[in-house]
Amino acid sequence: MQLIELLQQNMTVALLVFALLGLCVGSFLNVVIHRIPLMMQFEWRQECSQFLVQQPETLEAQANDLATIIAKDTPITLSRPASRCPNCAHKIKWYENIPLISWIGLRGRCSDCKASISWRYPLVELITALLSALVIYHFGVTMVGLSALILVWTLIALTGIDFDTQLLPDRLTFPLAGLGLAVNSQSWFVSPTQAIWGLLLGFLSLWIVVKVFYLLTKKHGMGQGDFKLLAVLGAWLGPMMLPLIILLSSLLGSVVGIVLMRIHGASKPFAFGPYIAVAGIIALLYGNDIISWYLAMYI
Ligand SMILES: [Zn+2]
Repeated sequence: MQLIELLQQNMTVALLVFALLGLCVGSFLNVVIHRIPLMMQFEWRQECSQFLVQQPETLEAQANDLATIIAKDTPITLSRPASRCPNCAHKIKWYENIPLISWIGLRGRCSDCKASISWRYPLVELITALLSALVIYHFGVTMVGLSALILVWTLIALTGIDFDTQLLPDRLTFPLAGLGLAVNSQSWFVSPTQAIWGLLLGFLSLWIVVKVFYLLTKKHGMGQGDFKLLAVLGAWLGPMMLPLIILLSSLLGSVVGIVLMRIHGASKPFAFGPYIAVAGIIALLYGNDIISWYLAMYI
């Protein structure tokens, strides 16, 4: 507890410590972003195969193929198998895995086959470090600050996964929604009542938008995951922040969408989750300031 007291008394040291912690967490988030979709695919393959094997219309030859998939498919977890170079399968040593420093030391290349390592890895580490320091600067070394860190870290993971796969896994959004209700049972961000309404209205507001959009255009604009993510932010930040988050994420999404369309031409599959997540982080840190600034202009 002495360490926490020291950090509470010295903000500069606290920011440094949490930035370093953020670098390490960012390194772990890279693993989460890469592996959770692979873990989900493994489970889907297993479930599909097991389901199809039991169906009466499955032929014997097909059943044998499916049984091979069930038996041979290698399970993947966050810790196993050990990280390897995707190009040459060179096992990554501990000193090649130090956040940021290793990537710079290796000049962004595998030590064995010299294949380039994506700049996204150090970028995620750097962003996590900066945001961790910013959260602590804003909330201090308090339980509120530490819980805000968990929210921000999970939002970074969700952003990466949605960006890659257009998925926002329930295994991340559901616990995060539960945690939002739990921390607000102590009124850390908003009152318990506001947290419950935030959860409900967060889900419903996007659900309604998507239904109306579908009635007008016969197109699905967003996925279920987006509703759940907004419900998460409602549970953490309360219903009053939802209009701001929807507005900010639509603005960000349109600006980036237009820029991407200029670069890539026709529209690629478009993940909306990252914009909701970024808007959520802005609302967490500056939402109250933005809303009072906005109200002051008109009242
Ligand atoms: Zn390699």
